[in-house]
Amino acid sequence: MEEQRAAFVERRHCISCGSNRLDELAGGRFGDEPLRTFLDRDPWGTSPLPYIESERWAYVRCTACGQTFHKRVLAPAWNERRFSEWMSESAIRQFSAHADTPAHRFAKGRDHVQHVLRIEKMTRALRGGQEVRILDFGCGFGDFLAVCERFGFVCCGIDRSPARRQGGQVHIVSDIEDLPASMRFHAITLFEVLEHLDAPLAALQSLHALMLPDGVLVLETPDCSNVTDIRTERDYRKIHPLDHINAYTPETLRRIAMRAGFCPVAAPIVHVTGDALRVVKTEIKRFAGALFPSTTQRYFRKMPAEASSSP
Ligand SMILES: [Zn+2]
Repeated sequence: MEEQRAAFVERRHCISCGSNRLDELAGGRFGDEPLRTFLDRDPWGTSPLPYIESERWAYVRCTACGQTFHKRVLAPAWNERRFSEWMSESAIRQFSAHADTPAHRFAKGRDHVQHVLRIEKMTRALRGGQEVRILDFGCGFGDFLAVCERFGFVCCGIDRSPARRQGGQVHIVSDIEDLPASMRFHAITLFEVLEHLDAPLAALQSLHALMLPDGVLVLETPDCSNVTDIRTERDYRKIHPLDHINAYTPETLRRIAMRAGFCPVAAPIVHVTGDALRVVKTEIKRFAGALFPSTTQRYFRKMPAEASSSP
């Protein structure tokens, strides 16, 4: 039965600053409660539990920079298996359907349009009248890019899940190497992606190379401030040890982006609403100085090479 146990690898250095000074905040076995129950409740093509129940998970914090992450992650071959067998297309769709209410769909559509309008405005100077060239890294089924296309953007999507690529609304490739070789982007977006990557800093650095100077980067990731263990369903949703292997706070998100050569910027306020009260509320926030909120949903720009630094 030995081959039935999933193989894990250990990330012994901080995923952001590279330090080996890591403190374990929490840990246990995948088969221990309450994690077993949380895993069991999720939709799966094939349940991962028989392969991982005796394996350990360890949630650590870097004492040098404060970044938190799961130290033990699935070895590449098992991660492929996770994408192809455990997270089948029907399991992914079942999972998405869970939160799929009319109100949720409307809010998501509105968010997409807001991002489109901000990106169009923020990239005008560097485009000189050309259409926006955008890359959505970890694009899922391509919902956001489908909206971008309607606004005339030139769109590229990357997703490593075969189920998402096949079921996608736009053309989606599996990796950076599959993009047109000379393509350089005005904007790159990662919505709920950075928390999933084995090597997030290297990924951001690769994306930095694909972007035009002054290009816009949008990062959205769960805010894991004050999450130190997996005791509740809410903890599990934030730091699911198979899936959300990296955890960010506003500060650690800013730091990893800066290490990769991006600087945080304030995004312009856009109003996508038929509700005048909503406009007023947003404008009040603007004048109250909440333009630059401390969240894990942030806009950045590619810094000129000489301005890059390691904060
Ligand atoms: Zn660190």
